[in-house]
Amino acid sequence: MATIALDPRLDKNTSNFISSEHRMLIDGKFVKAASGKTLPVYNPATGEVMAHVPEAEAVDVDRAARAARRAFDEGPWQRKITASQRGRLLWKLADLLESHLEEFAELESMDNGKPLAVARAADVPLAVDLFRYMGGWATKIMGQTFPISFPGEYLTYTLREPIGVVGQIIPWNFPLLMAAWKLGPALAAGNTVVLKLAEQTPLSGLRLAELIQEAGFPEGVVNVLTGYGEGAGAPLAAHDLVDKIAFTGSTEVGKLIVGAARGNLKKVTLELGGKSPAIVFPDADLDKAIAGTASAIFFNHGQCCCAGSRLLAHKDVYDRVVEGVSDIASKIRVGSGLDPETQMGPLVSEEQYQRVSGFIDSGLNEGAKATAGGRPAAEKGYFVHPTVLTHTKPEMKVIREEIFGPVVCAMPFNDDDIDRIAREANDTIYGLAASVWTSNLSIANKMAKRLKSGTVWINCHNVFDAALPFGGYKQSGWGREMGGDVFNSYTEVKAVTTAL
Ligand code: NAP
Ligand code: MG
Repeated sequence: MATIALDPRLDKNTSNFISSEHRMLIDGKFVKAASGKTLPVYNPATGEVMAHVPEAEAVDVDRAARAARRAFDEGPWQRKITASQRGRLLWKLADLLESHLEEFAELESMDNGKPLAVARAADVPLAVDLFRYMGGWATKIMGQTFPISFPGEYLTYTLREPIGVVGQIIPWNFPLLMAAWKLGPALAAGNTVVLKLAEQTPLSGLRLAELIQEAGFPEGVVNVLTGYGEGAGAPLAAHDLVDKIAFTGSTEVGKLIVGAARGNLKKVTLELGGKSPAIVFPDADLDKAIAGTASAIFFNHGQCCCAGSRLLAHKDVYDRVVEGVSDIASKIRVGSGLDPETQMGPLVSEEQYQRVSGFIDSGLNEGAKATAGGRPAAEKGYFVHPTVLTHTKPEMKVIREEIFGPVVCAMPFNDDDIDRIAREANDTIYGLAASVWTSNLSIANKMAKRLKSGTVWINCHNVFDAALPFGGYKQSGWGREMGGDVFNSYTEVKAVTTAL
């Protein structure tokens, strides 16, 4: 492998890790792909290859699934390790991660392109917090007793047991945090895991695998693979030794996962796309609403499943809101994630760059107007200017489909009827999130009841917490992540009845 000159601003440890020979974690050992094949990892700020990671294929997935199966059926994880010890392992992992905060922030910025300051303030601390929170749950996952009415005398209770081997597939928008959302609850509940990282952003997950080893999880309990969706993700979703598959990514691939899971009817949870509305009422605090709806779409370059990508503003305030959001958009400093001045980095990959630029062109060709952005940003790297589109029509592709980039479509509504406004906001196949901006709490909560989405934010957007369930209505997914609700999909419930 050719050595690549990495950014001199990076810490030595981070550069060394990026340039090292990467291996996957299978059965407690760091290994190459059986084929010896690797895939390239690109720096999105330059488009250059900065590392190579193993390219797992079906044979590697099989090895990992067998290791996870053995660890679940025969290893100490189920028999010897108590709930309290599982909690402590997760806390140890959280402590290790926290003590490497800067290194992980750098890895995330290099791999995904996001500003270092964002990774430092959001991605890494939220992942630490998630592991700690889930560690606390390990001792609190419990069944109930039931006063049954069947004739006779019985003692009846439920046990909440881990499902078994869990396959997990994650995307590239929050590489470390998505790994934490997946691993934390699965392990707290006592499952074993095969996690496939996103091809575009495998570095923080591979480094996390080293910390998982250092924390002392028994061999085979956590297996971490790098590879392509079709080569490694598909065989994982189809594998007969896997009892449950948890997927985050596009709705399109989510449907493939459901198909692949059919063979052994493994349990499936899906956290998919969105086309979330941010709805501004005329009585909103407009300064806050403008800043908040701009951040709803431009945070993480719009590469958020819950990005506020449809901006619905009442006709009385529409012009001011569009002007305000466009003004913010045009002042956002776009550049390399490592540059301290940068407020928005490059998109994650050439593919995403083409995809998002294609959406912008399609909107403009169909008659939309750009009041900010609207054109490619640089000759090098995958930069797209924050873009605000107006004059859109409900049937346009930019309104119907998830763009997953820094592009917001603004639309006025001419209505004061809450049911009609909600219907317009709900006019999408998705149902992940929504935000409502108003100083009238009655309107806000009436809207919250009417919106068909797993999350409703009132006078805020993108507020996340490990304690809050997150997931989608409609084609935004199945099941919930985080909070106590996540354990509904990481445990089986067993009813035990004893005749007394
Ligand atoms: P994607 O294709 O859905 O990828 C998500 C994960 O699934 C990746 O790990 C991917 O592997 C894997 N995968 C792909 N095909 C698979 C298959 N047939 N079987 C099993 N796993 C498979 O998403 P993407 O290509 O990264 O992005 C495309 C679009 O999806 C975005 O523009 C956006 O609209 C949407 N998206 C949504 C979210 C979200 O959180 N809602 C996240 C990411 C993307 P590899 O990437 O390694 O090949
Ligand atoms: Mg893909």
